[in-house]
Amino acid sequence: MKRPEAQFETKNAPNWCPGCGDFAVWQAFKEAAVEAKWHSHNTAIVAGIGCHGHMVNFLKIVAFEGLHGRALPVATGIKLANHDMNVFAFVGDGDCLAEGGNHFLHTARRNHNITVLLHDNAIYGLTTGQTSPRTNKGQKTKSTPSGSIEEPIHPLRLAIAAGATFAARVYVGDIEKTKEIIIKANNHKGFAVVQMLQPCVTFNKVSSHEFYQQNTYWLPKEYDASDKLAALAKTMEWGEGSIPVGVLYQSDEPSYESLVPQLDGRPLVKQPLRKRNIKKTLEQFG
Ligand code: SF4
Ligand code: MG
Repeated sequence: MKRPEAQFETKNAPNWCPGCGDFAVWQAFKEAAVEAKWHSHNTAIVAGIGCHGHMVNFLKIVAFEGLHGRALPVATGIKLANHDMNVFAFVGDGDCLAEGGNHFLHTARRNHNITVLLHDNAIYGLTTGQTSPRTNKGQKTKSTPSGSIEEPIHPLRLAIAAGATFAARVYVGDIEKTKEIIIKANNHKGFAVVQMLQPCVTFNKVSSHEFYQQNTYWLPKEYDASDKLAALAKTMEWGEGSIPVGVLYQSDEPSYESLVPQLDGRPLVKQPLRKRNIKKTLEQFG
């Protein structure tokens, strides 16, 4: 019997290293697409640069691979052109938080209605194992052979402080939960970020499958995700046995797209082109 998610597979088989967390994200996203009925006519995906960026080659959904760190401006452009589309940005931790850090802050601040799937393997994987903004302080990598002297960035803390209205975290080894969180994030009307904890099995032996299996815990049912201060406090938890996963924060605020008067009604791509008299326009500028 054919697997329903096979419809989203391209003829190129993924070539990530065996055990890479990208496989789990790929599987979770395909299953989410089946369940939520995402197809190229209603969904677009964008990726940055990194091993995760190959997702655009392995998912049969209209896709664009941007420059390093620049997936979010592209995703924003797609959403503004056609706000009826589900727009996903697959980004890496180095890609999004170093090269693309500025875009991350401002896309969150404006509450663009897009879903950011942040592949967090706490290393630069594609370039073979350099310290990223998510690498642990003290961890030895190719670029910091004596151990990193920098504090890592906590992307959910950053996103919530900047104005994101949905912030969640998953360990991708739990494919079912990853699928559920991806669907929830996309259903949210505003900027949604999912920090996907995933190992780079080849270049990061510290943030491993075993580490996340032993040290993550699901937020309890009584946790109130609408409490911003509590959510920020949750983002401070990171250590042995104490990494919370689930929806840390969600609030109902108008998205950027809902506030743009020109988008009130039909998406831009469905609006007629208005002809302007170019001579008149030039005259306005003297
Ligand atoms: Fe995955 Fe790391 Fe291999 Fe890249 S280098 S495919 S991130 S395991
Ligand atoms: Mg990385």
